[in-house]
Amino acid sequence: MIEYLWRVFRTHSSRQYNFNQFSGNCLNHPVPTRIQGVQDLDLLLLVSFDKVPQVSRMGYDNKHFSEDSKRFVAGGFCGVSQSNKRPVLGEISVNYELLNKMIVPLTTDFERVVVETLHQIIHIMGFSTFAFPYYRDPNTGLALTLDQIVKGGTLRNKEVSLVVLPQVVRAAREHFDCNDLEGLELEDEGGENIAGNHWERRVAEEDIMMGITDSQQGLTNYTIGLLEGTGWYQLSNY
Ligand SMILES: [Zn+2]
Repeated sequence: MIEYLWRVFRTHSSRQYNFNQFSGNCLNHPVPTRIQGVQDLDLLLLVSFDKVPQVSRMGYDNKHFSEDSKRFVAGGFCGVSQSNKRPVLGEISVNYELLNKMIVPLTTDFERVVVETLHQIIHIMGFSTFAFPYYRDPNTGLALTLDQIVKGGTLRNKEVSLVVLPQVVRAAREHFDCNDLEGLELEDEGGENIAGNHWERRVAEEDIMMGITDSQQGLTNYTIGLLEGTGWYQLSNY
């Protein structure tokens, strides 16, 4: 997967890593002052290990920390680039107690560690409702309006939110072999950290950005399409 990402991903980035930080803390921990002004950096991830992580409102998936949900990594961004508002500073917070419980008896859970960590990195890179207001048109660099990103609709007799970014629609139509698809549905259940920040589980069970992680999930083209639709990444041949 790393080779694949290396091949398809490029970041629109300025040499100088100047960013606006939302507060002195990232999710749970102070941001080291020495990172200000460093050069040639696309994304800085702070990794923290907590027994019972407390995630602020800038974080996602804090419900995933509970043992019931069996998710042990949370993530969120806490700083955006001054030039194009791309998230460039984020934190991944690992619940080490739960991680230990999973890793020691079952080394095969390593795949799940990879899937969950990548899931959080994709949230940090822009798959989140917090990031929607910063999305850019990839061609013009201008900020997108919310209705260019998400629209309301009715499916299965209920109100739904559909991601209508053209890159997502194109990839989803191809993936599901359905040319009538207007957009791809976001999850509406699971509380504020799940709803709106993941694909609807009924349609995107195989994708890494569903609300519940399974080690069999992979990175589908509609999730890559969403990252391209942020306007911050240049994708090729995906
Ligand atoms: Zn998530």
